[in-house]
Amino acid sequence: MSLSGERLLSALRETGAFLKGHFLLTSGRHSADYIEKFRLLERPHLVAEVCQEWKRRLEGQDITIVVGPAVGGIVLAYELARQLGCRYAFAEGESHSRELRRGFVIGPDDRAVVVDDVVTTGGSLMATVKAVRQMGASLVAAAILVYRGQQPLNWDVPLEILLHLPLETYPPDDCPLCQKGESLVIPKRSSLSR
Ligand SMILES: [Zn+2]
Repeated sequence: MSLSGERLLSALRETGAFLKGHFLLTSGRHSADYIEKFRLLERPHLVAEVCQEWKRRLEGQDITIVVGPAVGGIVLAYELARQLGCRYAFAEGESHSRELRRGFVIGPDDRAVVVDDVVTTGGSLMATVKAVRQMGASLVAAAILVYRGQQPLNWDVPLEILLHLPLETYPPDDCPLCQKGESLVIPKRSSLSR
């Protein structure tokens, strides 16, 4: 069974992925809403369902590699590549500058899909797109689990967004939660990247 947006939303609810408070997002913006994607990513059967839906949408595109930004993107890239029968790689580094390390080789013969979990501004995913293009590969699509931004993403890459959930975010210098003096929660991420 593949995963509709509605099914994904209820899976995120049922697994306790939605948190309320005052959070610092990877994008640097603040929000009262946080999606802890690992509530979903820690369940392989849900990751498999998500990837089945992308596989369906990407049918016949001759994908040779799936690339995701660490850390959540590794889980999704691995499973999508497993289902498509191709390679996967991951990009590391700070949010807006990602690179492929570990000797991953991507070249002009590759048709790549980049994949990410929860996207607010798309900074780290765009940085991954850039890294893949710099290595000469053709970019077939960018696959996003949840896009939580409010403006449409105007990218020169076809987007496969499974769930668009516009959630309010604020710049740090104009955040009503900061103004109320609510303490800021910095979600614990990898010390290397996210
Ligand atoms: Zn704030």
